[in-house]
Amino acid sequence: MIERNKKILLKVLEQCYKKRCGTAEIWRSPFRILMACLLSQRTRDENTEIAAGRLFAKADTPQAIMKLPLGTIRSLIRMSGTYRQKSKRLKQICKILVERYRGKVPCTREQLMELPGIGFKCADIVLMNAFNVPAIAVDTHVNVVSKRLGIAQMKASVEEVKQYLENFFPKRKWKFVNLGMVNFGREVCIAIKPRCVLDRNNCPFSSFCRAYRTKKFDVN
Ligand code: SF4
Repeated sequence: MIERNKKILLKVLEQCYKKRCGTAEIWRSPFRILMACLLSQRTRDENTEIAAGRLFAKADTPQAIMKLPLGTIRSLIRMSGTYRQKSKRLKQICKILVERYRGKVPCTREQLMELPGIGFKCADIVLMNAFNVPAIAVDTHVNVVSKRLGIAQMKASVEEVKQYLENFFPKRKWKFVNLGMVNFGREVCIAIKPRCVLDRNNCPFSSFCRAYRTKKFDVN
């Protein structure tokens, strides 16, 4: 990608990031971010936000969640899907936080990934949003947008996409590139039907996007 297009990309992604960063109010603590990451697995963003909002309205510390009966947690987070497994994991994580970390969220990738249900992507989201550690977490939106644009190969694995992105963008921009891509994927480069399909002017990247040029929008 030529330098001029890269600049357009950075500018738009920064705008997308700024436009929606204020809406993440319910994730505004390391603990909430961690819980929300777990709830977000295999579900839509809207469901995560509702489930997390309901849970946090009832309890938003590890100690408080530990005290909630499993059945109560299940009904609070039901709409996030796989709620039986998620409720158990929420409780297990809270117990570990209280017993090992005095109720705080640990701040290294290794410690985070030792928590039940927390993999690379969640660890990166927590590191970036809670502790300002530069990282790019590849979720569905980031995966789709970076492949369609041609930054990553269409068949790349999640780990490979992460590598492509971290090599492509300067480290100081990773945070807003990441969140900007999430927001851009939600609003414009939608997985099922990107908005450029209706009108190329719906997307500021259509003049240099690989998917738009080749008309191959399907991403694994
Ligand atoms: S041109 Fe279409 S496919 Fe390419 S980034 Fe924009 S919305 Fe996505």
